[in-house]
Amino acid sequence: MPMCSACHGLEREAHSPAHAALTITDARKRPGGLARGVVFRYRCVACGLVWSRATDTRTLESSWLTQRTA
Ligand SMILES: [Zn+2]
Repeated sequence: MPMCSACHGLEREAHSPAHAALTITDARKRPGGLARGVVFRYRCVACGLVWSRATDTRTLESSWLTQRTA
């Protein structure tokens, strides 16, 4: 399935908020250390793409990572 336009937007702009078709499938704490934070997993209901979003609890910076499936 091709990536939908909303997911294309996330890929271009890693600090944008979740788009409307994303649903949270998982949330877990990162192990301690320098990169503390929470990792959310999302699945796009429009194109099926799986994303993970890591949020640093100190800086509140987030970034999107695609988990491409074959
Ligand atoms: Zn999508």
